[in-house]
Order: sequence, then structure tokens, then C-alpha cells
Amino acid sequence: MSLAESLLVVCSMWRRRCGCGLQLSPLYLLLLALLLLLLLSGHTQPGSGRHIPRASRQHGQFPPQHTALELIPSDSFSDDQFIVATARAARPRSRRRVYRLLRGARRTQDPRDGSKPLQLKPAPPERQLERQGLETRGFNELVSERISLHRRPPEVRHPLCLQQEYSQNLPTASIIICFHNEAWSTLLRTVNSVMDTAPKKFLKEIILVDDLSDQGHLKAALSEYISKLDGVKLIRSNKRLGVIGGRMLGAARATGDVLIFMDSHCECHNGWLEPLLDRIANDRTRVVSPVIDVIDWKTFQYYHSVDLQRGVFNWNLDFHWEPIPEYEQKWRKSPTSPIQSPAVSGGVLGINRNYFQNIGEYDPAMVMWGTENVELSLRVWLCGGSLEVVPCSRVGHVYRKHLYSLPGEESVVKNKIRVAEVWLDSFKEIFYKRDTPAYLLRKTEVPDCIERLQLRQRLSCKNFHWFLTNVYPELSMPEDKSRYSGAARQRFLLHNIGTGYCAGYQTKWSTGGHPVALAPCSGNGNQHFEYNSFKEIQFGAIVKFCIDVRNEQIVLQNCHRGNKMESEQQWDMQKSGEIIHVSTGKCIEAIKNGTSKDLFLRQCNKYTTQQLWRLETVTVMNKR
Ligand code: UDP
Ligand code: MN
Repeated sequence: MSLAESLLVVCSMWRRRCGCGLQLSPLYLLLLALLLLLLLSGHTQPGSGRHIPRASRQHGQFPPQHTALELIPSDSFSDDQFIVATARAARPRSRRRVYRLLRGARRTQDPRDGSKPLQLKPAPPERQLERQGLETRGFNELVSERISLHRRPPEVRHPLCLQQEYSQNLPTASIIICFHNEAWSTLLRTVNSVMDTAPKKFLKEIILVDDLSDQGHLKAALSEYISKLDGVKLIRSNKRLGVIGGRMLGAARATGDVLIFMDSHCECHNGWLEPLLDRIANDRTRVVSPVIDVIDWKTFQYYHSVDLQRGVFNWNLDFHWEPIPEYEQKWRKSPTSPIQSPAVSGGVLGINRNYFQNIGEYDPAMVMWGTENVELSLRVWLCGGSLEVVPCSRVGHVYRKHLYSLPGEESVVKNKIRVAEVWLDSFKEIFYKRDTPAYLLRKTEVPDCIERLQLRQRLSCKNFHWFLTNVYPELSMPEDKSRYSGAARQRFLLHNIGTGYCAGYQTKWSTGGHPVALAPCSGNGNQHFEYNSFKEIQFGAIVKFCIDVRNEQIVLQNCHRGNKMESEQQWDMQKSGEIIHVSTGKCIEAIKNGTSKDLFLRQCNKYTTQQLWRLETVTVMNKR
């Protein structure tokens, strides 16, 4: 409501009351002045003079005491509590109380927004509004609206973090906030908290990407609000992109050195940006995450995590946080040291802009929302980068409470399938066994992952087995064997140290007699071998072949166990890495043969790394 409109309403009220708009008594003049002041301080957006088109605001409602008084224990916040507590008493206000109310409103009033939650009209029942907020947003919007758009989370960083000094020449950051129908209060609190905490010299811009929101408050009112903020751009997409496409659109327009992707319901701590930029400044292949604290979806209370956590995922490819393992704890020199993390959350992360482009941004064929963070995490680790959580950087995120299953749930399954097909190699079997919706969907729909597989090859990315061995060994193999028909089998990849390649056999050869060759380690079934108590190195699930020698070349042959040729197929696996042929005492060596790399028997020479092998264990579930 504009000021003029407010005046008209007041005047019409006045006329109805006394039948005359001219003869004003001093008492009524005072009342009129107070009402005007109230309207100015609470109901309008300074600068714009516009009423924010929030549904709950139109219905005006005083908050219940329990939510109002349980809010964040920060100073700037106490005013809100005061306003709420005062305003709640819907009795005639004494002059003193009205004054306190106004003073409270002004003190927290922000020159840029001033959207205070003063609501004077009766409204639908509180619970109904809360419920509405929950259904549409996944959080208690009513409570969020009563909190200052500039509140500061309490200081929870380790004291040593406060002593850290950072270079004055850190890279600059573009903060990309993609949103779809976000609440006014959470969106603007996110933007404001970035502006209030990020040093100007490092904050290149904030890019808001509107992912085809259709709610009124995100239209003209938002454009107007944003137009008054320095360095904040608003991009409107004319088709629904999802968070994945939206972030890529924002990234394409960004000009800062570093991209910080942030959800549209976050609150940043003081000093959150510098430690992130510092890590990337020293190595652009580091992808970094702040510690992500919890803003309660119901009360908006700020809960900071006390334990140090790292991001991980399970066999369903669902992300979660877990306490850091002991070895990581030992490796860290100080409480301020970054934590190596197998995965980063989707909520907030920082990445060098060029590096983001070089490693293939997000998978553009992923739809809408979900698992993009797991995909990015795997890609970064496997293709030469690293991920870390930086403990001196903290950002709060509203973890939404979804009352119903999300409309985009099938998108998440599709995205997971893409991750499995592109990155999990043969381990995808475990995923499909865990995730029935994915298993069923994959049977009817085969995704086209060629481009991402080509990207994987182009970037010479390592395989998932490497990830399991080196980054996340704690991702245990399924133990609940009763869920699967058949037991798990221990197999291994034969990884040649000298060439970095793995031994494999073309599965198209259904007979023996063909050479074993080297290829990049994919972890696929054609690189799986087993070693048994007869010292045979076997290959194949149903028909078994054994590693054998023909004219010094390593080939696969039918297994001869128990007959006179058995010694030809026996091998000693040395701890030092050699694989010694029992009958000749020679070693298996990887030798370049034109374009292919084949395996031959050669005199053992411990200085030849092509004769050294590392056995990388893989656990494979037997087929049903
Ligand atoms: N988002 C979007 N388009 C969509 C879905 C989500 O722009 O189709 C935005 C959303 O507003 C938020 C971010 O993407 O800023 C992540 O979504 P959400 O917060 O729902 O994910 P969660 O944190 O619950 O995993
Ligand atoms: Mn979120």
C-alpha cells in the first residue's frame, strides 16, 4: 500500500466514524499522526514505497509468543522480539508503548529494505498460515518474516579463526543465488547477509537467477528492491532450468575469479568468504565448502555444528554429513586446517570460475535438482582436483522440511542414474541394488551419457575404485548379503605401476587364446580378476579363463587345473608387486606393442616399474 493509499484509507475511516472529514479534534489528529507513523515505519518499503506482496502480510497477524521469544539470541534480533511481544498484546496501546514499538521498528529498520513485520489487521488462524508456509516453502515462513533481514548469526567460530590473516590480494567472488519461488524474507536475508559480510574488494557481484518463479513478490517488487543494491544483478530465466541449469546460467554471466553457489535461504557469518577464497587462491583445483550450520525450518533458530564434519554419500548416492575420521583428525595441524571431504553439499560451495568451466561445469543433462553435488564431487576428485570443508568459514542454511514427496523426485532418480552410469563403473551394480526406483527406471530408460563419458576420458579421470581406495575408503561394501542372491566375491584390478594402466580382456572373446591387454583403468568387469588357492589368476564370471603364456605373451586360456599343464597357469603374487610365473620364474611385464600395450614374460628386474603391479580390490555382487 502506498503512502497516498494509506492516507485515503485513514481518511475514509475517519469520515465513516464522524461523518465529516474536516472538523478534526486534537485527539483524532494525534491518532492520525500515530497511524501514519506506523504505516511509514512498518508497512512500506522505504525507497520503493511499495507494500511487499506477501500473503501473510495481507492477512496481518500477531505471532504467538512461543515462536517470537525462542528466536536467535543475537542483539539485532531482540528488537524483533520486542515488537512482536508488544504488538501481540492487541489492547489499546498506551502512548509510551506505541512509542517503544516505533522506536524498536526504527532501530532495526534497514535503510535499504525496512520491511518490518508489523501487522495490525486480524488474520486467518496462525496455525493455518504456518501450515501454508510449510506446504509451499518447507519452512515456517511466518517466523522468518518476523526476523530482521539483517540479523547476524552468533559468533561460533573457533577462536583461532579470528586470528587468521588473509592476503589483501585474494581472488574476487561472484555469488550465484538461484531461486524458484523463494520466500521474500529468506531470499533477501541471504542477499543482505552476503552484502553485510563479504568485503567489498573481494565481492565482485551477486547474481540472482530467477528460475521462472511465478509468485508475485518475486516480480516487480524484487526487481525494484534489487535495483537499489550495489553490485547485485537479477537474471530472469524464461524457462524452468532447475538449480543445475540456473547455476550454469549464473556462472556464464559471472565475472569474478571464483564462483560461490549459494542456496536462496542462507545466512553468512562474519568472515566466511576470505578463508574460502584463500584456499582457492593457493590452488585453483580446490573446491571448497564452508561449514554449513543449520537454520531450523520451524523456529529459524541458528544451530551451529560443534563437531567437525565432512560431506559424504552412501550407495544410494544420497549426500550427508558425518564426523571426520580419526586419521583426518591426526593429519590436520590445527583446528583451522581444512578438512578433506569426499563430497560437498549442494547448498554452498566455492570453485574457481575457469576451473569450473574446464572440468565441465554441471552435467547439463541432469534435470532440475538433486545429486548434482555428488556428481561434481566425484568429478573433481577423479579428475585431479580436491574438495575440502574450511572450518573458519561458516554459513547457515535452512534445511527445509518437506511435508510431501517432492514433485521433482523422479528428476533426482534420473540424475542419480546418470551419476552411476558415468562415474561408478561396475560399482553401479551396488547402487542399482540399493535403489529400486533407479533400477526400475534404468530398465525402461537408458540415459545418453556419451558426452559425459567423453569428458571423463578427455580429462583422464581416474576410476571409482580409486575414489574408494584413496578418498572414501569408509564407504563400506554392502554387508547385508541376505538382501542379494549370492555372496560378494573378491576380485581385483591388476594395475600396472609403470604405465598406470590396468590389465583386461575383451569380453567379446568368448573363447580363450586371446591376449590380455592394457587399457585405462575403468574398473569395468573386463578388468576383474580373481586369484585362487591354486595360484591361478582367473577371469570371467560363468566360464572361467586362466592367465597363461603363449610364445612369451600373456593370454587367457581355459583353466587346466588338475592336469599336467597346471604349472603353466600358476603365478606367485609378490608383495613387492611382481607377478612371477611359477614354472619359468619370469615376470609379467607391460610392453608397448605398436599402439597397443600387451603383456609379456620377461626376466624379472626389480627396477622395471612395468613389472610392478598393484592389486586393487573390488567387491562385486553376483548376478541374480
Ligand atoms: N531451485 C531452483 N529451481 C528449482 C529448484 C530449486 O532455482 O527448480 C533453487 C532453490 O530456490 C534453492 C536451490 O535451488 O535456492 C536449492 O534448492 P533447495 O533449497 O530446494 O534444495 P535443498 O537445499 O532442499 O537440497
Ligand atoms: Mn536449500
